[in-house]
Amino acid sequence: MNTQTVDLLGVGIGPFNLSIAALASTKPDLSTLFLERKKAFAWHPGLLLNDAKMQTSYLKDLVTGIDPTNPYSFLNYLVEQQKLYPFIASGQSVISRIEFSHYLSWAAHSLNNTRFNQDVQSVEFNGDVFTIETSEHSYQSKHLVVGTGMQPQVPTFCEPHISNTCFHASELGLRKPNLTGKRVAIIGGGQTGADVFQHLFDKTFGEVADINWISRRSNIEALDESCFTDQYFMPDYVDGFYHLAQTTKNSEVSRQKLTSDGITNDCLQGIYQRLYHDRYVLNNPSWWSIQPNRTLISLAHNENGYKLHLEHGLTHDNTQINADVVILCTGYRRALPSCLSKLASQIPLNSQGLPELCPDFSVKWPAANNNRIYMVNAGIHSHGIAEPQLSLATWRAAKIINHASGKNLYEIDQQEAIVDWGLSSPEVLIQPKAKAAV
Ligand SMILES: Cc1cc2nc3c(=O)[nH]c(=O)nc-3n(C[C@H](O)[C@H](O)[C@H](O)COP(=O)(O)OP(=O)(O)OC[C@H]3O[C@@H](n4cnc5c(N)ncnc54)[C@H](O)[C@@H]3O)c2cc1C
Repeated sequence: MNTQTVDLLGVGIGPFNLSIAALASTKPDLSTLFLERKKAFAWHPGLLLNDAKMQTSYLKDLVTGIDPTNPYSFLNYLVEQQKLYPFIASGQSVISRIEFSHYLSWAAHSLNNTRFNQDVQSVEFNGDVFTIETSEHSYQSKHLVVGTGMQPQVPTFCEPHISNTCFHASELGLRKPNLTGKRVAIIGGGQTGADVFQHLFDKTFGEVADINWISRRSNIEALDESCFTDQYFMPDYVDGFYHLAQTTKNSEVSRQKLTSDGITNDCLQGIYQRLYHDRYVLNNPSWWSIQPNRTLISLAHNENGYKLHLEHGLTHDNTQINADVVILCTGYRRALPSCLSKLASQIPLNSQGLPELCPDFSVKWPAANNNRIYMVNAGIHSHGIAEPQLSLATWRAAKIINHASGKNLYEIDQQEAIVDWGLSSPEVLIQPKAKAAV
């Protein structure tokens, strides 16, 4: 069989590479192909819970931010599915995650430059071209774009307990556990923790005996989604942020955490109203507990279930709770995908074991002049808080397409922004000022 050769090959088909695939599909100047290991498109399938909502507007889809005339917009999906008018009448400004996933799947399977059931197992570089091997085929490409997503993060001391009764939330909808009569502990106070709490409260997985919702955060904290917060998710901010000193970037990313890791106000209010009704209207005996400011410090298992040891963040008191099932809503981590291991010796890695990225999202590596390895969702510490979000995924996709083609296929110059960040010195590394001596 002939080896197919393209200009840009994408590894992984999540929303971020899919945005590149959709925008590239109308640009014959750049030949592209995107490979996905799953048999069919699926977007975080274990967390496609019935009542889970998007955190971002449906206008932040695969293409609209850059080219609303592209056929793979959310609005065109509504038209093609013959549901535009019913959608408009529904008055929703935020759609369900299930519907967004249907939209992504429609795009992924309509595009001609996507292939499924293609687990990329290795990538080699011969000085001129990348050779990409899946279990089925071999491909060649001038450039690569790695969009393999993030891996579920599990506290090390929980790893030995991973089982049907202790698992990461990303598997919840796939495992479909029967939680009837079970004492359940939910660990983690972000959006996923809230979604899981809400669905357990609503008996999605059976009528639980009790729920303990544990969060290290000092309260159950809302997503910071004000119009000025949204300015962090603008191209000019990302461009300026890139040129800050690394220590400044790290502290800004952690200060801005709630702009992407908080819980939507709708979700919080929905949960709060359920709790109020349960406790103060129905006067039900206590069967749930919300415990912020507690860190899970160890986990043990015996014939009576799990013992979870918690430490209070303010008093440092240690307490213990018991559970039959532990659901870990403990986030995700970035790692270099194993399919790049043959290139690993050629790619300098930073202290987190990840490649450094250039402003154009390509990896800093010796062959970078002619053969680029772009990475998406890998640059929160270089490009800032917008990196793991959908908000600027189309802008990043267009930037990568322009760069890989060496042409201005998409206009990405931005209008003047509302906020003057004072960060517009791309040539100069902005160093933090030394603190004045006291
Ligand atoms: C539950 C959940 C809800 C979210 N909701 C929002 C939201 O509302 N708004 C927002 O802005 N952001 C949201 N995010 C954040 C972000 O938009 C998503 O995580 C998004 O899916 C990231 O896209 P991705 O393309 O980087 O990775 P993924 O969606 O993880 O896709 C990566 C793909 O690569 C494939 N793959 C991996 N390795 C290989 C290989 N070797 N060969 C072939 N294929 C491979 C995987 O199978 C996978 O399909 C959410 C995140 C989660 C977890």
